[in-house]
Amino acid sequence: MPKSHVAGLAMTPTAFFIAHIHTGGNHMSLPDGAYEALENALGAENVCDDPAVTSAYSYMWLLYSTHAQSGRYRPAAVVLPGSTHDVQTIIKIANRYKFSYIPVGTNLLPPTIPIRPDTIIIDPKRMDRILEIDTQNMFAVVEPYVTYAQLQAETMKYGLTITVAEAGAQVSVVANNMFQGMGGTGHKFGYNRGVLGVDWVLPSGELLQIGSRGNPHGGWFWGDCAGINLKGLLRADSGHCGGLGMVTTMAVKLFPYPGPSTFPVKGTNPDFKVTFPHDRFRLNLIKFPDRRKLIEAMYEIGHAEIAAAVHEEPATMVLSGASPSVEYFWEKWPEFMKQWRNVLSVTLIGFSSPRQVAYEQKVLDQIVQELGGEYIQEGSELWQIGEDNIGEQIRTGLSNRLFRIAGDFFVIGGFGFDSIDQSYKMSEEYMWPLIEEGQKKGHFIPDDTHNDWLNSYQLGHFSETEPLIFFEHDLDAGATFITSYMKTIQEAVKRKMCTTWPLGPMNYIAGPNMCNYHELVLKIKKELDPRMTSNPDYPVPPQPPQ
Ligand SMILES: Cc1cc2nc3c(=O)[nH]c(=O)nc-3n(C[C@H](O)[C@H](O)[C@H](O)COP(=O)(O)OP(=O)(O)OC[C@H]3O[C@@H](n4cnc5c(N)ncnc54)[C@H](O)[C@@H]3O)c2cc1C
Repeated sequence: MPKSHVAGLAMTPTAFFIAHIHTGGNHMSLPDGAYEALENALGAENVCDDPAVTSAYSYMWLLYSTHAQSGRYRPAAVVLPGSTHDVQTIIKIANRYKFSYIPVGTNLLPPTIPIRPDTIIIDPKRMDRILEIDTQNMFAVVEPYVTYAQLQAETMKYGLTITVAEAGAQVSVVANNMFQGMGGTGHKFGYNRGVLGVDWVLPSGELLQIGSRGNPHGGWFWGDCAGINLKGLLRADSGHCGGLGMVTTMAVKLFPYPGPSTFPVKGTNPDFKVTFPHDRFRLNLIKFPDRRKLIEAMYEIGHAEIAAAVHEEPATMVLSGASPSVEYFWEKWPEFMKQWRNVLSVTLIGFSSPRQVAYEQKVLDQIVQELGGEYIQEGSELWQIGEDNIGEQIRTGLSNRLFRIAGDFFVIGGFGFDSIDQSYKMSEEYMWPLIEEGQKKGHFIPDDTHNDWLNSYQLGHFSETEPLIFFEHDLDAGATFITSYMKTIQEAVKRKMCTTWPLGPMNYIAGPNMCNYHELVLKIKKELDPRMTSNPDYPVPPQPPQ
């Protein structure tokens, strides 16, 4: 076993690890007295610097290829607040002792990983309560560790639901609504229209209440308020990623749900099926002769104001979701890729009655016929692979399988919120050519479908597209991914199109071409967080990347 040299001693890595635990973990990177102040405020059981715990917060998919090499910094400590008051106290201690902090939800996104050694993670695991479900006014009030699955399971008992992010029903409702909040049923329920009253602890430690919470006795019910609404500051396109303090309570909009009070799933992982009543919930999987026709159908469905969920579903996504094992995927993939092309998934929901489904089906049949589409027949092999799509629109549970088939997964670019036409243009003009370059290098898996996960929001009034790529957990492939991702920003800028989501430092590429918005965002950050310690590099880092 190789030996490490620590302070002149030769040790095995295991011995070094144990020595590290015994010498008091990592909190040495916090200023003197800071760890003790946190313990005094929260109780020793709610503060931890054990490397066995902090290591779990230092690993992240994709990060080996991006700004903060995965595992480079373990957080100095992890703290578990139990209330808004605790969060205020933690942030005030951070200000007094001068160290950084990152508020997190369930840690799915790369910006939750520390980029400085003196950083603590504020993990809201103890703040997991649904505080209220108002069935009359159709909203719920939640703490930051409430997940979509948890909230939806409760609201379904009252005939209500929420649009669940396709990141998966296991993510935090608060974190996701602050980020994109785009869910399967966004065609009907809207794209991130759900944020209502919010309690938000600023980097000063002060509590700011926005939406109707900002008005005396205003309650939680409304996302707007008298006067200027600061909701845009909270989330804008993709949120501040913990760079402007921490949201501790949020009210979110609920929507009608005409289904069973328990999510109707049969079987156990990896083989399960959802069984919604057919007269109220109808999945349609439709093959079109080409993508242009598929897009026309998306527009027509929007004009007719029918359907709850409308998505182009790419073959990789459908098959990886349906695959109980990696072997199953690779066995099926060559043939499946030929057969599953230009498929639009349309879920109809009879909110008012079964007659709504019958009516919408008639309208859809006409659109499909006029555009030369063909339904995938229920019971066929393709149908059996794709049928879980209806469950995915309502409570996403299969997104974790996307990571399995090659080791890593992402989109070459995307999240450029624009019209369906523009999304298609971005995809064809520069995203797929970049994918093909990556495939030629042998870095991305073979896929010649040119189909994306193209999503309709707000009855087709706008959309975003995600051309998926799958690659090995490997530095070269990761580098191809990250350079291609940045190129999609440059290509969009050249064409004056909406750019791929510019994560942190990438705002320095997009900003100069878009009225220097990044300078304005940085000014806001400096104003609210003058020491730049609330997730320091977000939403925009203080310096351009070197
Ligand atoms: C496979 C995949 C599919 C995805 N699909 C979708 C999708 O369809 N729709 C969609 O909207 N998103 C999607 N995403 C992105 C996803 O929304 C985010 O990853 C999600 O919000 C993460 O939730 P989380 O609880 O893990 O948040 P985290 O990753 O823990 O946090 C996300 C960010 O918010 C900050 N943050 C978290 N909580 C708070 C808080 N209380 N106050 C202030 N800042 C906070 C964190 O610092 C971090 O920067 C997808 C991601 C993946 C990996």
